[in-house]
Amino acid sequence: MLGRFISFAIFILLGALMGALFFQWSGAFFGVTLTAFCWWFLEARRGYRLFHWLQQPDRAPVPHTRGLWGEVSDRVSRMLRESERQVAVSQQRLGDFLAAIQASPNGVLLLDQEGRIEWANQTAAQHLGIDVARDHQQVLTNLLRSPDFLDYQLFADFSQDVVIAGRDDKPQRPVRIAIRMHPYGDGRKLMLTRDITALEQSEAMRRDFVANVSHEIRTPLTVIAGFIETMQSLNLEPHETKRYLELMAGYSSRMKSLVEDLLILSRLEGSPLPGDDQSVELATLWDLTQLEAKSLSAVLFAMPKQQLEFHLPAEYNGMVLVGIPSEIQSAWSNLLSNAVRYTPAGGLVQAHARVDARGCLCLSVKDSGPGIGPEHLPRLTERFYRVDSSRSRDSGGTGLGLSIVKHVMQRHGGELLIDSQLGQGSRFELVFPPARLRGLSDATWAA
Ligand code: ADP
Repeated sequence: MLGRFISFAIFILLGALMGALFFQWSGAFFGVTLTAFCWWFLEARRGYRLFHWLQQPDRAPVPHTRGLWGEVSDRVSRMLRESERQVAVSQQRLGDFLAAIQASPNGVLLLDQEGRIEWANQTAAQHLGIDVARDHQQVLTNLLRSPDFLDYQLFADFSQDVVIAGRDDKPQRPVRIAIRMHPYGDGRKLMLTRDITALEQSEAMRRDFVANVSHEIRTPLTVIAGFIETMQSLNLEPHETKRYLELMAGYSSRMKSLVEDLLILSRLEGSPLPGDDQSVELATLWDLTQLEAKSLSAVLFAMPKQQLEFHLPAEYNGMVLVGIPSEIQSAWSNLLSNAVRYTPAGGLVQAHARVDARGCLCLSVKDSGPGIGPEHLPRLTERFYRVDSSRSRDSGGTGLGLSIVKHVMQRHGGELLIDSQLGQGSRFELVFPPARLRGLSDATWAA
């Protein structure tokens, strides 16, 4: 600054000296005026160049200017660079923030004071059936005509969610969306949307399950309570007492089976997936379940009994199935017990083991029972689903057997196949993947 002042003073002095040299005092005055004007002109030109540079929207490099204006332009240029850097950082942050909201599993939508859409993520757009680009600045209530949502907006009680049908809602595949408004700022609103279809379905399933279990337990309990009351109030003959006690034992064993199956199901749902540290020998499994099936058949049927055939090729004897032995045994004996229970006396039940072309172990049981109509097949593995309820209960069924089987097979990476036709008998098959087999030889493949 001082340097500029000294240069200015020297410049003026030179002008005065030059003027005085030619025209004495009046020349000195003229010289001072002229040099001051030239100095001013140069400074004004530099200032104008800087001003012109600042006016350009996409600025060229800062003009090289000397003097006071040069210093000003340096500082302005530094300030501009800093503010551009800050804008870039803020934009980057905003971009990251919006990307994070886009990735959210919940829908997020911003509304202005008039309820117009300012911003929405893709999830919200998908939940509500709007198009983010097309519907920008549209009034949301013009697009979302659900009466429940309109009431929610009207009464402005945002302490709870409002639930509406989603865009893809269909009678056979309902979609339910929960919406919650959060007012903020000067009359703006943040709207959050959640797909609660799965939640509502699992809640409905839980309610059905509790109702089914209560019903299954209440019936035998009511009967047992009735017998106890009768035995307490009446003087029964010994043979009558014996008969009542037998019936009570039957009903209590039904409840016991139900509780046992429920415990198996809850263990299946809560325990870790089977690893490869446990296994069962196929021959052992075969012998054990064969014995069980034969004794069940003997208990259920007097003469003529059913014909039970078990075919396990000799070369499969050394085969080992990797998985949880109790679960595999429970799945296989459930299928055998169903075949025995639903096949009438004199009928035929055949169990086979084979390794198919893919290397899967298939354990199948075929019976000559009543068979199952096609309308029931997709629902057979649902909990408490029964085709013939009285037949199931009379033979000790709980309605949970096939649901247990399906669970066990899913946990072991396998599947349950069902093939049945009304009046033609049924065939149930457990298919275990090759990874669960040990002790497979070439002879086994050929078998
Ligand atoms: P349950 O304990 O009633 O047998 P499951 O889950 O094992 O329950 O079976 C569901 C229903 O499938 C049974 O109630 C029965 O109606 C039908 N079912 C199962 N296995 C057979 C079969 N081998 N033959 C005919 N119907 C069967």
